[in-house]
Amino acid sequence: MAQMQSSTDVFNFATSTSTQAVHAGEQRFRSHHSLTVPIVQTAVYTFDTTADLVNYTEERLFWNEPEREEYGRYGNPTVRALEAKIAELEGAQDAIVVSSGMGAVTSTLLLLLQPGQHFILTDNCYLSTLEFSQNFLKRYGVECTLVPFGDYDAIEAAVRPQTRLIFSESPTNPFMRCLDFERFVSIARRHKLLTVVDSTFATPYNLRPLAFGVDLVIHSLTKYLAGHNDAMAGVVAGRYDLTTPLRQMQGLLGNIAAPQTAYLILRGIKTLALRMERQNAGGLAVARFLEGHPKVRRVWHPFLESHPDHAVARATLRGGGGVVSFEIDGDAERAHRFIDALRIPVIGPSLGGVESIVSPLALMGYANLSPEERLALGIRDELVRLCIGVEEPEDLIADLAQALDRI
Ligand code: PLP
Repeated sequence: MAQMQSSTDVFNFATSTSTQAVHAGEQRFRSHHSLTVPIVQTAVYTFDTTADLVNYTEERLFWNEPEREEYGRYGNPTVRALEAKIAELEGAQDAIVVSSGMGAVTSTLLLLLQPGQHFILTDNCYLSTLEFSQNFLKRYGVECTLVPFGDYDAIEAAVRPQTRLIFSESPTNPFMRCLDFERFVSIARRHKLLTVVDSTFATPYNLRPLAFGVDLVIHSLTKYLAGHNDAMAGVVAGRYDLTTPLRQMQGLLGNIAAPQTAYLILRGIKTLALRMERQNAGGLAVARFLEGHPKVRRVWHPFLESHPDHAVARATLRGGGGVVSFEIDGDAERAHRFIDALRIPVIGPSLGGVESIVSPLALMGYANLSPEERLALGIRDELVRLCIGVEEPEDLIADLAQALDRI
């Protein structure tokens, strides 16, 4: 392909995720013949004449998506290229990039829910999402019912006349529970509810929730999509009738992503398919090794036959991802000795980047809960979440083996 005029030309030719990850969304702003999307570092965009301003205003009122920008809080060309790339990857009409994954979760719920309304959340999800849903939204008169993941009768039983939407992660953090999308979407359709799915743990390489009829998909871009543990942002993708008011709300809330951040994530996504292939393979190899080890009590990875959603995961995901949660057979002290003996993974929060990260979850992410509250969420002191980077899986397994030998 010698001359590519626009990403559309590429997609008439090839529609694989790998090709889309490299080329999608990049045709509009290829200025100065630059191969890479420029970082447009400005807060202000200028108009040559008042007539230009009149044209712009009419275009904005009529189309809602003018061909140019006005002010940094309403849009930026680098950020728009990232939005177009993600929309293409998710098969969405539109995508809105915001300041963090939590920015995506909170602004979506704030937009869609009004005082007196109710929504359903499947349990086992990122703790901040749970806290926002159960505690913070109360002050706006919004109620949330938490239902056990995988219990579709419980979802249906939780529906009330005031229910507006169902929110779920898939795969979930940290136990990688996976939705049976057919059942999930059919309940929502029967009751005329919207569905919102946070598929940060899958990325559009492993899963496209919109193809199953989900209304909105959310990602923390901080994880696999940025991929290098160096940038924070979030995204919401879906139909225009939902994303347009979300974009208008973003102009009011101001939860925007910076152009440099968008550039880093655009660059990260170019290697998404390569990284996901490695992380899918590494995650499963490490999970199988841990499952066979006598000092490990239990392992969660969606592609292990022992995982509660194994069948659904195999049917819906291209790969099981790079996160493996497991319990050391012993107490917190033994688990901490194991973690301290690891040489490759660093101790920290987050996942999806090129560096492997290990998190003792009772001390990280869930430390502000009481031991009883943690247990109610299934977080035992000896639970470890290991997020595989792109290191050689054999090296990681050798490292895990030597650390287990030392406890
Ligand atoms: N959603 C999931 C599933 C997550 O795991 C996280 C963070 O770990 C978030 C959302 C929040 O993302 P961020 O840290 O970018 O706000």
